[in-house]
Amino acid sequence: MEYSHRYPAYPTQAVAAELERHIDIHRQAYNYTRYEYGNVDTDDIGSAYKHHSRLPDWKNEFSIFSEVNSKALQRTVTRFYDNLSNLKDKKENGNKVGKLKWKSPREFQSMTYSQSGFELKDTSGRHATLWFSKIGDIKIRYHREIPDEADIKEVTVKKETTDEWFLSFGLETDDADLPEKPDVDSLDTSNSVGIDLGILNYIYTSDGKTVDWLDLEDEYERLQREQRKLSRKEKGSNNWEKQRREVAKVKRHIQRKVLDYQHKITTWLVREYDAVFVEDLNVKGMLEQSHNARNKQDAAWRQFITLLDYKADLYGCHVKQVEPEGTTKECASCSVGTPKPIWVREHSCPTCGFECDRDANAAMNVLQRGFSELGLGWPEDTPVETALPTDTTTVSAKRVIEAGSLGA
Ligand SMILES: [Zn+2]
Repeated sequence: MEYSHRYPAYPTQAVAAELERHIDIHRQAYNYTRYEYGNVDTDDIGSAYKHHSRLPDWKNEFSIFSEVNSKALQRTVTRFYDNLSNLKDKKENGNKVGKLKWKSPREFQSMTYSQSGFELKDTSGRHATLWFSKIGDIKIRYHREIPDEADIKEVTVKKETTDEWFLSFGLETDDADLPEKPDVDSLDTSNSVGIDLGILNYIYTSDGKTVDWLDLEDEYERLQREQRKLSRKEKGSNNWEKQRREVAKVKRHIQRKVLDYQHKITTWLVREYDAVFVEDLNVKGMLEQSHNARNKQDAAWRQFITLLDYKADLYGCHVKQVEPEGTTKECASCSVGTPKPIWVREHSCPTCGFECDRDANAAMNVLQRGFSELGLGWPEDTPVETALPTDTTTVSAKRVIEAGSLGA
């Protein structure tokens, strides 16, 4: 399987200047690929592979292209063709698309070393070092370990609009090295969990755990403050540009904090349980397309589910998305549906008398649907009433992060 890890990077001033110089040469290579594609008619243009064979000629003609790593240079040519095929896909899906544009320095802020020309070193502590050929060493904050069995296929270095640097590692783990998933027949209510994705940014599990979300109140207040300042500056002025960067920085900070936290929760879930079931948001999104705020929220949950999905393979856990319709209305005990307005926090079934917390009922339905998705019935010796947790434990964000096994 393929996945990626991203790390903040702290190049020295000299190395940062070198990175910028190299990225700009790659930008010129990208633009030149685009130029040749549109204007030169020969057999060795038309695919990334063919176009690579032109690079020796480029280097003879323009010595600047010899100054960067040659595999990375090939990768930049490939990048043009990747963009081209993305554009084609979009067009085929009925989107209106233009042509690939010439890239200005502002629009081209990254380059990728592929296969060779880099080495990750000193990985034992909180910081590690990445060496790039023709550039040198870059310190990174190594907050997430790269598994021993993973191959580093490529490394992308990027300068964000906030002027911060990041390294992103394209990783591949051979499927044979992935842990085996538990036997489906061994799954039951003690090792499997259904999750209700809360409206207020929290999750509720079928075994009675609520996980609070991060407290981002200070961050959002700061964002508003910086946005207010921006609105008072003259658009396009130097001060406006400076303030725009401030706003981008706070936004990125919030996104990073959320992503980091989602990493921690998803790792906790796939380590704690043999099977994790969540609602299928793609179906749900279509059902509720008109609710804009809800869609925004769904974007955050989609990111959460993407993480959960790839960790399922990495850690050997079943993760399934289930039909979301009616999880709140339906009774987990007798499956008769009863409409509930959002403010009703209790589930109390008029048909069978089953009573429990609204979110517990929903999570229990997700669990049941997960079991049937895997071809399992509800375990016969476990009536829903006894599967229900006797009380609810609130797992604080802090605890999720601190609890021993939540390193990733
Ligand atoms: Zn009922």
